[in-house]
Amino acid sequence: MTQIINGREISKQIREEIKIEVEKIKEETGKIPGLAVVLVGEDPASKSYVTAKERACEEIGIYSDDNRLDADTSQEKLMALVNKLNNDPKINGILVQLPLPKHLNESEVLLAIDPNKDVDGFHPINVGKMVVGEKAFLSCTPHGVIQLLLRNDVKIEGAQVVIVGRSNIVGKPVANMLIQKNTTGNATVTVCHTRTKNLADHTRRADIVIAAAGRPNTVTADMVKDGVVVIDVGVNRVEDATKKRGYRLVGDVDFEAVKEKASLITPVPGGVGPMTITMLLYNTVESAERAAGR
Ligand code: NAP
Repeated sequence: MTQIINGREISKQIREEIKIEVEKIKEETGKIPGLAVVLVGEDPASKSYVTAKERACEEIGIYSDDNRLDADTSQEKLMALVNKLNNDPKINGILVQLPLPKHLNESEVLLAIDPNKDVDGFHPINVGKMVVGEKAFLSCTPHGVIQLLLRNDVKIEGAQVVIVGRSNIVGKPVANMLIQKNTTGNATVTVCHTRTKNLADHTRRADIVIAAAGRPNTVTADMVKDGVVVIDVGVNRVEDATKKRGYRLVGDVDFEAVKEKASLITPVPGGVGPMTITMLLYNTVESAERAAGR
């Protein structure tokens, strides 16, 4: 029977665990883990992500430092802020909300973040450490995917995993995490993209399919085998006149049809989505523990 993976529930569970860690840090060191969020401009989606992150911090007792800058902020001013946060002992994690307005140099800003405070896990130092199997901040969405698998007792070791998508923020990091020679890895991984020939030939032999293509119905029922585990990272807007806002969110997988064949599957929304902020909180607390020498 198909089981729907409840990302909200798993996320709640992990946040409870993080809350306990925050309490311990407070008791043992007198310090509160701190996350600085930097938002440049007024993009509505970015504003709502940032608000959700700040609310999540508040709920589990992390100090949230809110930095909102005008859309016409200069590169110099933004770099100076990152530098100030790098040197602020109250701050354990820095998150610069992307995308930045077009006149700003995104990669220069991300490179300027102290890798020890790079809780998004996007700094090349952290990416490189993860690839060579050293301790690093794992980027949040891919780490969320791994946690969903682990916490549903999916056997990753020896599994054939097919990932659809090779972006730097999802496909590549999740592939690298899954091939690590450790307890959360040891899978045999295939990464597919738009130049892959016969995508279905790959997905059909997968024990686990991870879809991160950004396109609805990229994975359909005829493309998977019975009993497959499906993690749908995609978040796509499709027009829906029955909704007040005129659209609904769907993933990359034809959920209704694929769930008839899958043993486990994530819905959209309510699957991978809630895990991303949770893993950001996780990294912030890990950073605070490192700073306290724990
Ligand atoms: P992206 O940068 O656009 O990358 C998409 C990848 O999918 C590319 O590698 C592309 O191949 C591949 N692809 C696209 N269409 C394909 C097709 N028909 N067949 C095979 N491969 C195909 O996207 P992203 O940033 O990784 O995000 C992917 C999806 O995840 C989006 O819907 C995004 O909104 C969602 N997302 C969700 C979260 C979350 O928290 N839930 C976080 C991040 C992203 P090429 O490289 O050849 O172009």
